[in-house]
Amino acid sequence: MKLMYQSTRSNSEPVTASQAILKGLADDGGLYVPVTIPGLEIPINRLGKMTYQETAFEVMKLFFTDFTEEELKNCINRAYDEKFDTQEIAPLVKADGAFYLELFHGATIAFKDMALSILPHLLTAAAKKNQVKDEIVILTATSGDTGKAALAGFADVKGTKIIVFYPKDGVSPIQEKQMVTQKGDNTYVIGIRGNFDDAQNGVKAMFGNKELAKDLKEKGYRFSSANSINIGRLVPQIVYYVYSCGRLFKNGDIKEGEKINVVVPTGNFGNILAAYYAKSMGLPIGKLICASNENKVLFDFFRTGIYDRNRDFILTASPSMDILISSNLERLIYQTAGRDADKTLAMMKSLSKEGKYGITDGMKANMEDFVGGYASEKETVDAIKRLYKTAGYVIDTHTAVAAGVYQKYITRTGDKAKSIIISTASPYKFTRSVMKAIDLSYDSMGDFELADELSRLSGTAVPRAIEEIRCAKVLHEAVCDPDKMQETVENILK
Ligand SMILES: *Cc1c(COP(=O)(O)O)cnc(C)c1O
Repeated sequence: MKLMYQSTRSNSEPVTASQAILKGLADDGGLYVPVTIPGLEIPINRLGKMTYQETAFEVMKLFFTDFTEEELKNCINRAYDEKFDTQEIAPLVKADGAFYLELFHGATIAFKDMALSILPHLLTAAAKKNQVKDEIVILTATSGDTGKAALAGFADVKGTKIIVFYPKDGVSPIQEKQMVTQKGDNTYVIGIRGNFDDAQNGVKAMFGNKELAKDLKEKGYRFSSANSINIGRLVPQIVYYVYSCGRLFKNGDIKEGEKINVVVPTGNFGNILAAYYAKSMGLPIGKLICASNENKVLFDFFRTGIYDRNRDFILTASPSMDILISSNLERLIYQTAGRDADKTLAMMKSLSKEGKYGITDGMKANMEDFVGGYASEKETVDAIKRLYKTAGYVIDTHTAVAAGVYQKYITRTGDKAKSIIISTASPYKFTRSVMKAIDLSYDSMGDFELADELSRLSGTAVPRAIEEIRCAKVLHEAVCDPDKMQETVENILK
C-alpha cells in the first residue's frame, strides 16, 4: 500500500511521497502531510542495535513508500557518509543530568545538515521517478544557516543547480565566508543590498511568476525549494529521534516502557514536529518541550491557545530561532483540528490577514503533550556558563536556549523523567557569543583565535568546516539590488 500525502488546506487529490517532495508546497498553499502516520515495525531493543543508516532506512521506507529499497538506500548512503565527522552521525553526550543529542557533525556544523544532506538525492530520485527531465533549480533566500547547508547538500549533485540569495550586510562574517567560499560548478551565491525579507520576497515572487516558469520550462529548467516545509526535509528528521531512543535503551539508560522527554530549540517548528511524528509512530517519548528564545510566540501559543505574531521582532544570540511565523505549526494545527482542511485554511487566512488566530479548547487538549518554554538572553548565557563550569561541556547559543528552558521546567514541575536536549549547532558556529558567555573578556579576540581558544577549553578539535574557511578562496562575489534578483537568475540560466 502506498502512503499518500494531502494538503493541509484543501481536500484536493492526494499525491505520492515523491510528488510531494518535488512540489514542496501544495498548489493551494498548504503543506503536505501523510494521510496516516505509520507505526514503527521494529521494537526498541532491536532499534538499539542498528546503525544510523539502517535506522534511516527503517523510518523512511514507512513514509516514502513509492521509492524502491535500492533508491532509498542509495540516497541514505550518499547523505550520511564521511561528510559527517563521526560514524555515529548523531552522538549522544551525557552532561549535567541530561542527554545532549548532537546534530551538528555534518558539513556545515548545524542541524540543517541532517535533512539537507539527503534532500538533494531524494529530489533527483523523485524527478527520475516522475519522468521529470528538466534540470532542477533550487532557489533559496537565507538568513545564514539554511543557505550554506543547502549549498553543501546540492553542490555537484547532477541534474541540479542551486542559487542562494543572502542579505549582504545581514549575516555573520563566518556565515558569509562559509557561503562565498562554496565550491561546486552548479552553485551560485549572491549578496543583495537589502535585508532578509527583501531576499525572501524576491524569491517568493519568482516562485509565483507563471511567465518565468514557462520561459524556464522551454529552456529545460524548473524551480524547486529546499525550504523546511518540504516533507523531504521533515521525514529525515524523525530518524534521529528513533536512533537516539534506541541508543538510550541499548546503553541501559532507559528501560522497556520508560518514557523520555525531549527538549527542542525551536524556530520554524520543523524539528519538534519531527519529534511529535516520532512519538505518534510509537516511540516512548513523554513531553515535547518547545523551547523559544525571546521571540516567544510559541510559548504564548501553548499557554493561551492564541497564536499572535503582532509583536516586535527581537534580534537574539540564537538567530536561527528569531522567527515570528513558525510555518510547520500548520501541520500540528491540521492534525489537532481532526485533519480538517477548512478549519486549517481559515486559521492560516487569519494569520496572514490579522497576524493571529486562536484554536479551540478541543484542539488545545489535543496538544497536551507539548509544553512551551522560553529562555531570556541572560538565561541563555547562564546556561552556557553553568554547563561549562559543572560539566566542562560547551554548548552553542541555540542549544543553550533549550538547556535554560529544561532547567526552568524541572524546577517548576519536579518532573523526574530523563530528557534528551536537542543540540542544533556546534559552539564553533557561534564562537563569539559562546565564549563571551563563558568570560566577557574573550570579546577582544579575533574569530579564529576564539575558535582555537574554544578548542583548548572544551578539549574538542576545531571542526573541518571552520578550518576550511580560515584560508579558503572567495569564489562568489556577485551583489545585486533586490529588484534585480530575477534578472540575475535569468542571466545564470541563459
Ligand atoms: C534552524 C535552526 C533551529 C530551529 O529549527 P526549526 O526546525 O526551524 O524549529 C534551531 N537551531 C539552529 C542552530 C538552527 O539552524
